[in-house]
Amino acid sequence: MPTREEFHKRWLALLLTVDLPMRALVRRHIEAATRITLCECGCHSFDLHFSEGLILPPLTEKSGLFCEFSYETNHEFELDFLLICDQRGYLASVDVIYSIANITPIPDDIEVRGLKGIWLSG
Ligand SMILES: [Zn+2]
Repeated sequence: MPTREEFHKRWLALLLTVDLPMRALVRRHIEAATRITLCECGCHSFDLHFSEGLILPPLTEKSGLFCEFSYETNHEFELDFLLICDQRGYLASVDVIYSIANITPIPDDIEVRGLKGIWLSG
């Protein structure tokens, strides 16, 4: 069974293949992160950390959801990815959500199928 770190690498690689709005800038934010930490609750969500004083072109004008995309999976539920920005407009976290309200753990053998959609917030 893949570890959460292995899943994380998979989701990050997947995210970088999606034709997101401001895709090049999203990549730049990810590459600028000095550290990425997995959510403490045990889910697949992760946070990005930047060095103090780092200046990046922002993704959003204020904190909150930047965009969302979701994939069909080989299981009952789809896998949703929410890109959330901090007050500077920097990509602060990526919520990885499986099923309604994220109450079901992600199955160990999950695989993504087709991209269902990309939604830009606001
Ligand atoms: Zn979590």
